[in-house]
Amino acid sequence: MKDIKVLSVASEIFPLVKTGGLADVAGALPGALAGEGVAMRSLVPGYPGVLGGLAKSDVVHRFADLFGGPAQLLAGKGAGLDLFVLDAPHLFARYGHPYTATNGIDWSDNPARFAALSRAGASVGQGLVPGFVPDIVHCHDWPTGLTPAYLAYDGGPRPGTVMTIHNLAFQGQFPASLLASLGLPPDSFTVEGVEYYGSIGYLKAGLRLADRITTVSPTYAAEIRTPEWGMGLDGLLKTRAADMAGILNGIDLSVWNPAGDAHLAARFDARRLAARARNKAALQDRMGLAVEPASLLFGVITRLFWQKGLDLLLAALPTLLQEGGQLALLGAGDKPIEDDFHAAVAAYPGRIAFTRGYDEGLAHLIQGGADSIIVPSRFEPCGLTQLCALRYGAVPLVARVGGLADTIIDANEAGVAAATATGVQFAPVTADMLDAALRRTAALYRDQPTWKRLQLNGMKTDVSWQGPARHYAALYRDLIAARRARSGSQR
Ligand code: ADP
Repeated sequence: MKDIKVLSVASEIFPLVKTGGLADVAGALPGALAGEGVAMRSLVPGYPGVLGGLAKSDVVHRFADLFGGPAQLLAGKGAGLDLFVLDAPHLFARYGHPYTATNGIDWSDNPARFAALSRAGASVGQGLVPGFVPDIVHCHDWPTGLTPAYLAYDGGPRPGTVMTIHNLAFQGQFPASLLASLGLPPDSFTVEGVEYYGSIGYLKAGLRLADRITTVSPTYAAEIRTPEWGMGLDGLLKTRAADMAGILNGIDLSVWNPAGDAHLAARFDARRLAARARNKAALQDRMGLAVEPASLLFGVITRLFWQKGLDLLLAALPTLLQEGGQLALLGAGDKPIEDDFHAAVAAYPGRIAFTRGYDEGLAHLIQGGADSIIVPSRFEPCGLTQLCALRYGAVPLVARVGGLADTIIDANEAGVAAATATGVQFAPVTADMLDAALRRTAALYRDQPTWKRLQLNGMKTDVSWQGPARHYAALYRDLIAARRARSGSQR
């Protein structure tokens, strides 16, 4: 029996709209939580892709004017998910990227767009839809950070609130002059409220005002309470340490299943690892690499931004090549990084390949065909590609930060001796240390029995949503109990 109702509010949800891991989490959690007695419904913006994916919907509320235009709240199923969709054409009827125009610049009305989403989330939390009055509203990242603020400043009964940080680098900071237009009272503009260094901080507001805070790995939860990685919020997060938890992400094992993956040239599992060779050949061929079965083929699937440490990889390319390696890179992002990799492809044809863009199918083939997946991030809240890599027998080579530190067991002497190692870690995150890690990975690859052990250990690792879902369910129950106890003691 599902005894807890949770509204998840998110600006992305897989498979309807996705720019990163946040969408994967928002898309996978409801299904995983169903087995834990939690009925989760998700509120998302009515982008064209979301409205197009709605099978059948009912209008459950009409807003005469929501931040500059009429809007309606739809309820229905989309891609198997129980959705509330905020159909506000003046804010969300835009194709392409959810946050930026085609020129890559943020939409100037993002403050209103995501205040509207947050406002709708708060209203559903307050009982706007009588058939679904949630016990908890669970908010994801800055676009939903004002939800706890609206709930706090509206007064009256409210559900419990949880704010999850998927990436502290995106904070949603907007001019103080917008305060009234956002429907926030003047007394909300304090350090204890939405004020953040003289501006309005959406994420800051959520972190200040939500009952609980989670982030997506225990190590990242600790890192962001330090000035080095707190990005201005470490002080606040330190004061809220008692209300904070790090809960790792999982991956959807029905989407990431090498034994039944239609994107692969050959499907495989732990007993049929040899079949990976066909994927490797298919990947090399598709990306224009020399089709060499024995070369150590590295894969990288990522957004191309500073966070992801691709400049370190560029600096370490000579070592990768010296060790007889090849590189298959899939990603898009900052133009200078893209240009550098295009230049590397031109300099080392057949050894380095770069597909610019977002390609779900190719991402699967890289996971199923590459020998190793490199994740050289400077910081990484959880990281998903290394979890997929574990599942697909591609040995992860990762920076020892955030969720990468928490999910990969290093193949040092102890890890190999204990037969628990699943990959290679390096720290600190510098080009020199990446260099050394590439050499270490190449040595491990030359020792095929050990390599195979790493692959099999990885494939055995539980990367499902089951464990994380249990954690979230326990957190919701704990919060509900704590709020009941508090309201009881106030009587
Ligand atoms: P982030 O959320 O910071 O981008 P994560 O590793 O947490 O990083 O999640 C990234 C997700 O997006 C993974 O599921 C990864 O496979 C996917 N992804 C990233 N870039 C691409 C791309 N260019 N093509 C296909 N999938 C991608």
